[in-house]
Order: sequence, then C-alpha cells, then structure tokens
Amino acid sequence: AAKETGEPYRHWSPALDERAGEHARIGAELQAALHAGHFRVVYQPIVAMPDARVTAVEALVRWEHPERGTVSPAQFVPVAERNGLIVELGAWIMRTACEQLVRWQAELGPDAPERVSVNVSARQLARPEFPGMVADILASTGLPASCLTVEVTETAVFGGGQAVTALHHLRSLGVRIALDDFGTGHSSLGLLHTVPVDVLKVDKSFVDRITEAGRHAVIASALIQVSQGLGLTAVAEGVETAEQAQALYALGYRLLQGYYFGKPAAEPEFTRRSSASPA
Ligand code: C2E
Ligand code: CA
Ligand code: CA
Ligand code: CA
Repeated sequence: AAKETGEPYRHWSPALDERAGEHARIGAELQAALHAGHFRVVYQPIVAMPDARVTAVEALVRWEHPERGTVSPAQFVPVAERNGLIVELGAWIMRTACEQLVRWQAELGPDAPERVSVNVSARQLARPEFPGMVADILASTGLPASCLTVEVTETAVFGGGQAVTALHHLRSLGVRIALDDFGTGHSSLGLLHTVPVDVLKVDKSFVDRITEAGRHAVIASALIQVSQGLGLTAVAEGVETAEQAQALYALGYRLLQGYYFGKPAAEPEFTRRSSASPA
C-alpha cells in the first residue's frame, strides 16, 4: 500500500505553466509519461453520515515525475486538455479506476466502496465515441454501470450540444452524473433544467466558511434544499474539520468528502472512524 499523498507538490511553480513554450514542452512530456507509466490514480473517500462509512471514492490522477516529484493535476490537466491528450489519459484513468473498484469489491466484499467517481473533461465529453468507450470499459472490467459516477463541471456542459447528448447516453447505461464544483459556474441552477444530473457536489468554497453562519451557510443550506427538492444527491466537498462536518450534517448533508475524512491515497482506509460521528 502506497503512502498518503498529503505532502505539498514539489518544485513546480504555477507561473511556469503560463508560458506557451512551457506548454508545448509539458505537452510532449505528458505523452511520454503516459507511455512510460508515470501516472497513477489515487482515491479520496466520500463518506455517509452519521457513521462516516466510505460509500464511494473519487479517482484523482497524479503525475509521478522522475525529477519533479508528484505534479498536481491542476498543473497538467489543463495542458492535457489543450493538446488533446486528456482523451487518451482520461480513458486510462477511467479503466484504472473501474478495475480498482472491481478489485476492492472482490477483496473486501461489503466493506468495499459501492461506487467510484471519475472526473471527465469537456474535451472527452465532446468526442462522440466517449459513451461507447465507457460502455466498453464497464463490459470488460465487469463493473456494473450503477457503480460508476462521472463528474463533470458546469462549464463542460454549459454549451449543451454533444456534451449533454453524451450525458444522456451515459445515463441510459445506468451511469450516474455528478455536477462538480456546484455553485461556482455561471448558470448553476439553470443547468438543472437542461442537463441530466444525479449528484450535486457542493463546492469547497461554500464549505470553507460554513461555521460562520454568514452567506456561505445560507447558500449551502439553499443548495441542500434544492437537491432534496429535486430528488438529487448532494455531496459536500472539501470538509477539513469536525465543526464543518457537524454544521453540514445539521443542514441535512449526509455525504461528505474532504481531508477530515481522508486524503486521496492509493489504498484509502475503508474502516469506520467512529470519532467522525457528529452525534
Ligand atoms: P476536483 O475534481 O474538484 O477534485 C477535488 C480536489 O480537491 C482534489 O485536488 C482533492 O485532493 C482536493 N481536496 C479534497 N478534499 C480537500 C480538502 O479537504 N481540502 C483541500 N484543500 N483540498 C481538498 P486534486 O487531486 O489536486 O485535483 C485538482 C483538480 O484536478 C480536480 O478538482 C479536477 O478538476 C482535476 N482532476 C483531478 N484528477 C482528474 C482526472 O482524473 N481527470 C480530470 N479530467 N481532471 C482531474
Ligand atoms: Ca471532482
Ligand atoms: Ca470538485
Ligand atoms: Ca475543482
């Protein structure tokens, strides 16, 4: 079992990737890294309250660079999106995550998470073959479609078109759709009319100041009510403290994710943490 990935990312300043020349170089490096096997997938628990049982995990990609150490996806995913490599990288991530859940379910039985969430970029959704590729991965890994959630951002689906067609297709397979970073896009509530959605992932920015009983708490409260009213599932992201977990629980949130419950890891802890109970 590999260690946790809680250390800060080393050596790479965000300013570096602003430069076009750097982009081209990193783009070429990414392609080589994929073929060299330098990417890996880590998994962060999503827990169900009040007992903090791990019901799902979110798959998050890491680049293990031979010199730079672990590189954040915030730095290389945008580059991979721009040069198109995200299509191939994303397919590898999807297959890896589905295989991992099948393995955990075989090894751990009822203690294994029920679902895995995989982040999907606009560029992947725009490819007409994307839903078919997902269907192939489910068939070849043997993972039931109901065990897979696809996380998309509001901006990825804002334009409608092929992205929304793809989500309908995925849903017809039985895959669940989550709107990521919910509340931070430009048309969060409007999208709920036009996009097939099962899960709202309420952005960390609302969770950060939830205990201050100010505007953030009001919005977090409104979002759980919208989600309940529409029959959707809400997940609160970026929960870092017991106080935040407790405040979210009091508002009605039952699915929580954040460093407080577990950082992304190759082999997360799936046993219950009774101390996490807000009761
Ligand atoms: P995201 O999908 O919103 O993922 C949540 C991010 O918040 C992750 O960062 C996670 O490690 C971090 N996080 C979780 N809990 C906490 C917390 O309590 N406190 C704080 N400060 N942070 C927390 P990460 O892994 O660095 O990923 C950053 C972004 O990169 C993701 O944001 C997602 O947009 C993108 N990304 C990551 N993996 C993939 C992938 O496989 N495919 C695609 N297309 N994008 C990915
Ligand atoms: Ca996500
Ligand atoms: Ca998110
Ligand atoms: Ca995010």
